[in-house]
Amino acid sequence: MKDREKDIILTGEYVGVVEEFLPDKESTYIKDGKIFASKSGIISKDLEKRKIEIKTHQESDRKTVKINDIVIGTILFLRKYSVGLNFYTLNRKLHFNSFYFGNIHVSQISNKYIEKITDAFQKTDIIRAKVIKEQSNEYDLSTIGKDLGVIHSDCSICGTELDKIGYNKLRCPMCGNIENRKLANDYRQVSYTLRY
Ligand SMILES: [Zn+2]
Repeated sequence: MKDREKDIILTGEYVGVVEEFLPDKESTYIKDGKIFASKSGIISKDLEKRKIEIKTHQESDRKTVKINDIVIGTILFLRKYSVGLNFYTLNRKLHFNSFYFGNIHVSQISNKYIEKITDAFQKTDIIRAKVIKEQSNEYDLSTIGKDLGVIHSDCSICGTELDKIGYNKLRCPMCGNIENRKLANDYRQVSYTLRY
């Protein structure tokens, strides 16, 4: 059985029964135990979680940042207790014409204690992070979790792409320089293609 099914649905259309799904309050309504769409869009059924909801095109293309969004960005600078970065990619969609500014505090990098910021990030690293807070057009991000952290990194001496040689350890194949990072588990193996 398929885990997820996707189809276009129109407002008022029957989508399922309450015994089968937990209806989403924002996109469906219930009448006589049946679930109907309260707006038109793409239906998303998660059979495992038994969730049903209707997503509009605008939502999947939205450019506003929300809490818990997963973003991809580039480290711009390192401070003593935090890093600053720009991010362009929101929930796997790349926005060429807009970018956002984020900060990651040292306490939000990893579950493990990070002594120096430079043990986790360097300038120009590409990282995946989660939005945890918004404040005045800037965003606080976190890289706590296996799937979050550095996904691409260059040698700080010669600029060659670093190879992973161990847990949060990288080595330059050109000059042999060894560096530490807070790595995402798919470092340099990011499997999805960005949508344009
Ligand atoms: Zn090098």
